[in-house]
Amino acid sequence: MTAEIIDGKEFAKDLREQIGFEVVKLTEKTGKKPGLAVILVGEDPASQVYVRNKGKQTIEAGMESFTFKMPDTATEEELIAKVNELNANDDVHGILVQLPLPKHIDENAVIGSIHPMKDVDGFHVINTGLLATGQQAMVPCTPLGCIMMLKDKLGDLSGLNAVVIGRSNIVGKPMAALLLNESCTVTITHSRTKNIEQICKKADIVVAAVGRPQMVKKEWVKEGAIVIDVGINRIEVDGKNKLVGDVDFDDVAQVAGAITPVPGGVGPMTIACLLSNTLTAFKRINNIIGCSSS
Ligand code: NDP
Repeated sequence: MTAEIIDGKEFAKDLREQIGFEVVKLTEKTGKKPGLAVILVGEDPASQVYVRNKGKQTIEAGMESFTFKMPDTATEEELIAKVNELNANDDVHGILVQLPLPKHIDENAVIGSIHPMKDVDGFHVINTGLLATGQQAMVPCTPLGCIMMLKDKLGDLSGLNAVVIGRSNIVGKPMAALLLNESCTVTITHSRTKNIEQICKKADIVVAAVGRPQMVKKEWVKEGAIVIDVGINRIEVDGKNKLVGDVDFDDVAQVAGAITPVPGGVGPMTIACLLSNTLTAFKRINNIIGCSSS
């Protein structure tokens, strides 16, 4: 293996510490604490774990954590009423509605009801529009974590060729917008892209957000390229469950300059960036300048 491993776990730990220090300073200065409210609808086991982790890390960062559980029979109107109540609550600076929602609820309607300044997931169309036009936005947490790691590794990204595999609203599209805002030459690929391998091979930066286990092979990657693996896939190896990314790590590590592992790469950065966004929301709502993320 030749690639340097980008340690997302360590990066996320440092980021959480930095956020914790800032929270202490801001709490002393303002007498208020940043507050994150998470709404969980239904009993999905994976969502329950995510929500628990978010609450735990929010408290560890010195912030207020509010968790609201609603039954999966809750109506869209009831959920939007809860969001509106939190929009009006001055102790709440960030609101996150855990996705996916039960099928009878329109996700876009719910996301659209969150006040854009409290939209710490960055999914509201106002924030996606601000990001797309290069203005100060609330940036979705996973791509925010990826761009932080890329800038830390490479410094100036200007002029680099970046390929994003995947065009979802939560990862692929905002990732491409962030890279473009950093003056990369960006190509977005997806399930209908022809010659994806050759396109990736030209990239200085490859970000894979596909949901296909170990799809990216070493033949796809230019010598020395930086590879960010967003994918989280469970596969069975010798009868045991294993977590793998969208990149064939052992194979690609032979040619890449640096690579994020799965687990321990992008994943830990996502919750750390949620805390970062909550701190950013707190500062913006209270007109405190000097935000750490944009
Ligand atoms: P989506 O399913 O919403 O999007 C997947 C994208 O990949 C689509 O744009 C799709 O194309 C494209 N795609 C599918 N198959 C291929 C293919 N064979 N070749 C090229 N492109 C393909 O997934 P998400 O963006 O939500 O998530 C992607 C991965 O990242 C998942 O593994 C998910 O678990 C993980 N994830 C990890 C997070 C973390 O914190 N680390 C957070 C969020 C997601 P098309 O649009 O044409 O269908």
